[in-house]
Amino acid sequence: MLKGKVALVTGSTSGIGLGIARRLAAAGADVVLNGFGDAAEIEKLRSGLAREFGVRAAHAAADIGNAAEAAAMVCAAEMQFGRLDILVNNAGIQFVSPVESFPVERWDAVIAINLSGAFYAIRAALPGMKARGYGRIINISSAHGLVASKEKAAYVAAKHGLLGLTKVVALENAQADITCNAICPGWVLTPLVQKQIDARAAKGRISVEQAKRDLVGEKQPNQRFATVEEIAEAVMYLCGPGSRAVTGIALPVDGGWTAQ
Ligand code: NAD
Repeated sequence: MLKGKVALVTGSTSGIGLGIARRLAAAGADVVLNGFGDAAEIEKLRSGLAREFGVRAAHAAADIGNAAEAAAMVCAAEMQFGRLDILVNNAGIQFVSPVESFPVERWDAVIAINLSGAFYAIRAALPGMKARGYGRIINISSAHGLVASKEKAAYVAAKHGLLGLTKVVALENAQADITCNAICPGWVLTPLVQKQIDARAAKGRISVEQAKRDLVGEKQPNQRFATVEEIAEAVMYLCGPGSRAVTGIALPVDGGWTAQ
């Protein structure tokens, strides 16, 4: 379905981003991975994707929270593969603390990576998408883009902000074949969430399994983690031919979390 298309997925060396990159490659897209990690492991991921799905794959180590690095990454992707059709802004970090003791540098980092990074990448990708008359921009927000939780001020602010950015980009490009949408996952069991589970287990002196059950039980009515594959299928829908008229939306994949 995506043969001939080129996709860049930020934060795709782990978790949801990696699942999205795999799904896009499985559909035939050439992919640019981005994110941090062990260089040998990343090379294994990159070459594995290329081999398994018969696509071209690259990795960019850019820090998405840095405007110049983000723009250079988009430019390099276009130079290497000749185009950029699909941009998935997925890179994200979390930090948990009450507002009054929230470290300012952690606030700045969460806003830079989870919100400004998407702006930097979109800003750099739009001229090429406009020139080619096609683009699919998908921002990975969160249930926390729609509702709040305590002790997540920066994350909740960034994810709400990302939905605002999504709508503006959708409006500005509504007459081109460029859509911009957001996906709002509920809990997905990735390293980002595992850290919160471990902290919860340590704080409550409970087992990690109990902490997992409590975490999901508290927010997610279907009582299970969403899977990386379920998020990737939502991305596929937003890249597919059936969603050309869908733009500016926030699509929850959250087991009913935000229906409450
Ligand atoms: P993860 O920690 O498994 O992966 C994060 C990825 O981002 C990694 O590849 C990491 O290297 C990369 N990254 C971190 N800082 C970066 C930077 N400065 N520049 C470039 N890349 C950077 O996390 P995840 O759970 O897969 O989260 C992916 C996205 O999904 C995030 O935006 C997160 O907020 C969102 N999300 C996750 C959940 C969940 O339950 N896991 C729920 C809702 C939304």
